[in-house]
Amino acid sequence: MNKRAVIIGIDGVPFRLMDELSQQGVMPYFGELRETGAFTQMTSSIPEVSSVSWSSIITGKNPGEHSVYGFTELFPSTYTLSFPNSKRLKASPFWQKQGEFCIINVPSTYPASSLNGVLVSGFISPDLERAVYPSNLLEVLNEFNYTVDIDTKKARKFPMILFKELFEALESRVAFSHYLWERIKWDVFMVVFTGSDRLGHFLWDAYEDESHKYRGQFLQFFSRIDEALREFGEKLNPDDALIILSDHGMEQTQYNLNVNCILEEAGFLRSEKDPRKGYNNIQEGSRAFALDPGRIYINKKGKYPRGYVEPGEEEAVISELCYTLKSLEINGQKAISCIHENPQIYHGPYTEAGPDLVLMPARGVNLKGGILSGAPLDRDILPGKHTQEDAFVFVRGDCTPVESPTVENVVPILTECLGWYNESS
Ligand SMILES: [Zn+2]
Repeated sequence: MNKRAVIIGIDGVPFRLMDELSQQGVMPYFGELRETGAFTQMTSSIPEVSSVSWSSIITGKNPGEHSVYGFTELFPSTYTLSFPNSKRLKASPFWQKQGEFCIINVPSTYPASSLNGVLVSGFISPDLERAVYPSNLLEVLNEFNYTVDIDTKKARKFPMILFKELFEALESRVAFSHYLWERIKWDVFMVVFTGSDRLGHFLWDAYEDESHKYRGQFLQFFSRIDEALREFGEKLNPDDALIILSDHGMEQTQYNLNVNCILEEAGFLRSEKDPRKGYNNIQEGSRAFALDPGRIYINKKGKYPRGYVEPGEEEAVISELCYTLKSLEINGQKAISCIHENPQIYHGPYTEAGPDLVLMPARGVNLKGGILSGAPLDRDILPGKHTQEDAFVFVRGDCTPVESPTVENVVPILTECLGWYNESS
């Protein structure tokens, strides 16, 4: 049994990148580490969105139990978009167990709620004031020039600004983490680096293309993450467990596919195009609509203001949707690799709040929600997009290796390492 556990998250990094960079000497410390534990591919949540995946990682539950299905939802009985925060999470994160915890930068934990220890929320955190518990640490965060996220609008346009901000955010996060490591007592210490996801979205081509102008800086960022792993790794006691993981993978984007546009063309959706109205553009007679990235909801009578589908007709609409979307081809290639129905993938008390169908895209296809898109395809892409099957996890601890782990296995692994079984809390 381990006395303490350290969890280091590297957002949006595929198994393949960790595997290659640790073998090529860009991440030499991870190269040493992987020989001392189990390093495997890990399956992300469905959909493979950070808020969903991290919610499963910290609770050990599926979305039907924790109720987080994406960064966006609709307010009940409306078509008005909401952006759920940590209050949406219906299952307890592992830090509600008995023990002392230091939790830094886990996505979707804003506003920070109380715990026995310290919590600094990750993205999306609209302000730092409510992103920290206890609040007296705010001053220290400011002394470290701590930022939750980079300015993505500027960074998207100017790679040099992107790198400058990524490195600055990483340095302040690492420095602040060491500050807490030394000063507070903890049983589980968790920190997540999220710059890797931003870098992947904006410059994944710099990873794939060896002659890319920014390849050097791209690799340098991961080499700095490797140094950070070393700085934490070398502070560990021999009886500490170490878990390093990502929440989803990343690959090159080929094109964006606007799902609502496809639904509209296939006759499932009728909408106006008033930019002020968002999903309130949905018109009478609509049978289905999509939220990001490929979550499809049947427009049920009684559930939505202009609900159209009667209870007895739902199955038929689902079959028709599956048939239409599975056969969808773009330039002679299938756009959707498979379609999951809600009961096949979700279980628990909150499955009703989930989508009726979740589309899994073919390689390189970036599914998008939103109701105003003009055309089914758009090439205004970011180079990198999420993947579901190839997150990664490295575990060195007193636990049985898990074959083909998913994000829901992380809490059970932690539980076994720390011998939490017999607790009532
Ligand atoms: Zn991302």
